Amino acid sequence: MSIKQNLERLKSTIPSGVELVVVSKRQPKESVLEAYEVGQRIFGENRHKELIDKYDNLPKDIEWHFIGSLQRTNVKYVVPRVALIHSVDSDKLLEEINKVAAQNSKVMDVLLEVHLAQESTKSGWDVDELVVYLASQAHLSYSNVRVCGLMAMATYTSNSEIVEGEFKQLKTIYDKIKSLYFEADDSFNIVSAGMSSDYELAIKHGANMVRIGSLLF
Ligand SMILES: *Cc1c(COP(=O)(O)O)cnc(C)c1O
Repeated sequence: MSIKQNLERLKSTIPSGVELVVVSKRQPKESVLEAYEVGQRIFGENRHKELIDKYDNLPKDIEWHFIGSLQRTNVKYVVPRVALIHSVDSDKLLEEINKVAAQNSKVMDVLLEVHLAQESTKSGWDVDELVVYLASQAHLSYSNVRVCGLMAMATYTSNSEIVEGEFKQLKTIYDKIKSLYFEADDSFNIVSAGMSSDYELAIKHGANMVRIGSLLF
């Protein structure tokens, strides 16, 4: 099956109202173009060098998202090139994004990454920490950052009960945070969860943005 066929088949399984981010990390530019030619415009990358190369050499109407762990020293390469950063996991990182966004006369849209999975290797805020952080209102002082929702990764397991439990937990946390801190803020509306192996479960439990790579390429 070609990338085009895979993409068309995938899109037929994704309900309207759910945004598809095609994860093009480690894929050649030709593969991005193949998806672009059948209308895909949103692509996700997780390394700044690869992002720079693709950004510079592919059509300018692509909307790039940054989905990988981001070091503060690399924020300056990412902020000018992307529409959304999914993986903000600390106040220090948010502070740096705000600084660089101001230098670029930009308001940077971001998601806060929540740590749900049982694996300790996965990054993100612990749920309790995140609630305490938002209650402190520290993020409100960053006027060049707009917090648009939450992102998470489920445990990598074939046990769908574990995965479903984590996606349910994410939606519960999202609803709580929305009602406590972003009730009047229409731009806080994204739940980014679900990859090739689990996107259907993520959508079932309320994700409205999925990030899919290996299923297509
Ligand atoms: C690689 C990656 C994806 C896509 O994973 P696939 O299994 O290839 O669909 C989604 N989200 C993040 C954060 C990733 O690093």
